[in-house]
Amino acid sequence: MNSLIACHECDLLHQVQPLPDGGAARCVRCDALLYYQKKDSLDRTLSLTIAGLVLFIVANTLPFLAMKSKGLVRETTLITGVKGLYLQGMEALALLVFLTTILVPLVQIAGMLYVLVPLKVPLHPQSAALGYDGGLHDRHSGLHGQTGQDGKYRSGLSPLFLCSTDIRLGGQCGIS
Ligand SMILES: [Zn+2]
Repeated sequence: MNSLIACHECDLLHQVQPLPDGGAARCVRCDALLYYQKKDSLDRTLSLTIAGLVLFIVANTLPFLAMKSKGLVRETTLITGVKGLYLQGMEALALLVFLTTILVPLVQIAGMLYVLVPLKVPLHPQSAALGYDGGLHDRHSGLHGQTGQDGKYRSGLSPLFLCSTDIRLGGQCGIS
């Protein structure tokens, strides 16, 4: 059973079809972009996230400013800068610097890894061995359903959530 997608510009309904890498689906009436399939989108996003994590570690462990005066060398990292601001009585500025340079980037990178790693690495090898027909959707969602008495795999997601997730990820949108 194919799913439908409505054009965001003119509301014309289209059947969702699988696309090749780099392909795009457009509305037949107004030519608006409906959805598209980026080439290696998961691999590229995951590799950029891992690179971001490496750079985050480097940025927070290596000094970004060093001052040398009369033989005395003082190096500053991001966290020592936050600590220095706090000790000088600028608590609000220290909090702002801490949030924008350390906490928020760390949460963002961790969130991306939390979403991307289960999509790339199957968490339950048992499910992968079943050969279920909903494998594409569940690999994208990172969630798991159950195998019914007829041997068909039933996704743990509702069709609406399944559909919207796949469109956002640029994959095909099908409900089985
Ligand atoms: Zn349209």
